[in-house]
Amino acid sequence: MTSTTIKPVIMAVDDEAAVLSAIVRDLRRQYGGHYRVLSSASAATALTTLSELAKRRDPVAMVISDQRMPELEGVEMLERAIALVPDAKKVLLTAYADTQAAIDAINRVGLDHYFMKPWDPPDELLFPVVDDLLADWASVARLPWQGIRVAGSRWSSAAHRIRAFLAKQRVPFLWLDVDADAAVRAEVEEAAGGELRLPTVFFPDGRAVVRPDDRQLAAELGLRTEAQGPFYDVVVVGAGPAGMATAVYAAAEGLDCLVVEREAPGGLAATAPRIDNYLGFPTGISGRDLTSRAVAQAERLGAEIISGRRVTGVRVEEPYRVIQLDDASEVTCHTLVLASGAEFRVLDVPGARQLTGSGIYYGASHGDRKLLAGEEVAVIGGGNAAAEAALYLARSCSRVHLLVRGEKAVASRYLLDEIDLTAEVELRLGQRVEAALGEGRLSALELRDGSGEKHRLEVAAAFVYIGVRPACDYAGDTVSRDERGFVLTGPALALRGRRPDGWPLDRDPFLLEASTPGIFAIGDVRSGTYGRVATAAAEGGAVVSMILQHLRGWERHERLGAAG
Ligand SMILES: Cc1cc2nc3c(=O)[nH]c(=O)nc-3n(C[C@H](O)[C@H](O)[C@H](O)COP(=O)(O)OP(=O)(O)OC[C@H]3O[C@@H](n4cnc5c(N)ncnc54)[C@H](O)[C@@H]3O)c2cc1C
Repeated sequence: MTSTTIKPVIMAVDDEAAVLSAIVRDLRRQYGGHYRVLSSASAATALTTLSELAKRRDPVAMVISDQRMPELEGVEMLERAIALVPDAKKVLLTAYADTQAAIDAINRVGLDHYFMKPWDPPDELLFPVVDDLLADWASVARLPWQGIRVAGSRWSSAAHRIRAFLAKQRVPFLWLDVDADAAVRAEVEEAAGGELRLPTVFFPDGRAVVRPDDRQLAAELGLRTEAQGPFYDVVVVGAGPAGMATAVYAAAEGLDCLVVEREAPGGLAATAPRIDNYLGFPTGISGRDLTSRAVAQAERLGAEIISGRRVTGVRVEEPYRVIQLDDASEVTCHTLVLASGAEFRVLDVPGARQLTGSGIYYGASHGDRKLLAGEEVAVIGGGNAAAEAALYLARSCSRVHLLVRGEKAVASRYLLDEIDLTAEVELRLGQRVEAALGEGRLSALELRDGSGEKHRLEVAAAFVYIGVRPACDYAGDTVSRDERGFVLTGPALALRGRRPDGWPLDRDPFLLEASTPGIFAIGDVRSGTYGRVATAAAEGGAVVSMILQHLRGWERHERLGAAG
């Protein structure tokens, strides 16, 4: 990832349109690569913009103002600007007749320079002085934020997707709300040639990318998005705890291993604020922390992980298994591990689909919590994930309504005890959500309580934890599934003690093997698993021994074939 500084601002102010456009043109041509040149035809608007920049702690390197302006003279404008951006260089544009005012201003407002209009040729009369002033400014400026910035509307679902992706990748970013900040709005418009196209991601090297998808984001962040080779011993679909454990153990055994992840490594576990029951972490560990350790470990051992890429199909071309990716490219392997987990079940009530990402969320990130600080929110669901999310959100939201449909929450006792002790969380039993209300963003939920009465709950956001469904549509008919769609493996495949139909080998399917030999399923996607991080990771480790046995059998078969 590149990491230069964000662009500091040069602000030009002049009520005369021709002069303003000439100075802005010259400044952008010469300094546009490293500075953001903003312009204003009025002193009042310029001061408002400077005040917003100052509030956001955006660096302002220079303010250049014309002296003769109808509402406020340039010297006064600069005097007020100093209060807002004290470190910026102050420059006056004067006509010959105003020279005395400029000289007086040197002491009064600490004027750094004055230019006589016109400044032609700029190469001689403008740039050398501006170069010196900017170099001087840069030598002492403390630039506040050097990372990625995401500009968008707070309630936009596209912006939410980008924030969630960066949060999962553990990439720090600065959120810029265009609805709350005119200067940000101006910058976004400038980046898109005068149009407001949202969301826009600003990278530290000055590039602005409008509405990037996950693959583009992954590539921009310097993550790998393309497999290095066409063939692997093991391909793993999904980089949750199950997939990452497979990668660690497979790579440690010397197998060529590729992990394909449609979003960012971590899986559902990355959305868990605190995992309390993972062996060896007595005070709990966050899903994000566990993920970054796993990624570092897998890569150190030689596994390859590609992000922002979705597996869309699987087929068998004996003796190989072939996966298709979202751009129709293919990767071939000896063995395939389905570790694609489960997805949150969606809230199927009127309004919920339209408001997804705009107040209805699946999974709560650190960014969501920050953005919703002080707000009233709801968490829908009665299990552990819902209880954990409620406690997590209670750390910054003013009130969290934990809405449980039944008359009893099924979360673990220790979580319910913690909820009892948390004043901000209100556990509300017997509440069925019937609609999500709001235009462009969620404003309220429509609830029906146990007595059949309907009422409204006004909340800024609702986090949905009402169960999961398996994420394995891409596997088509290469695997058999249970009645809920989870992948059947090992003994669960046997019908009345017989091997599954069409099973070609003279051995039974291994414990974690699906109905096609050499295709395995582990973690939350597998029928009968116990949806826990530790179980997923344990199955990821265990599957490697079955992969090795399968490969040994295949090698023997090949040798016998060659000999015969
Ligand atoms: C909020 C929350 C809190 C939780 N807290 C705990 C806890 O405290 N303790 C605990 O033990 N468990 C907890 N769990 C459960 C735990 O997170 C899961 O059991 C575990 O993550 C399952 O791991 P997995 O690798 O099987 O699947 P996942 O973690 O779901 O990972 C699957 C990965 O596959 C990817 N994928 C899916 N489809 C494709 C495709 N077509 N192409 C490429 N990639 C794909 C997904 O993007 C995902 O990254 C919690 C879950 C949630 C949601």
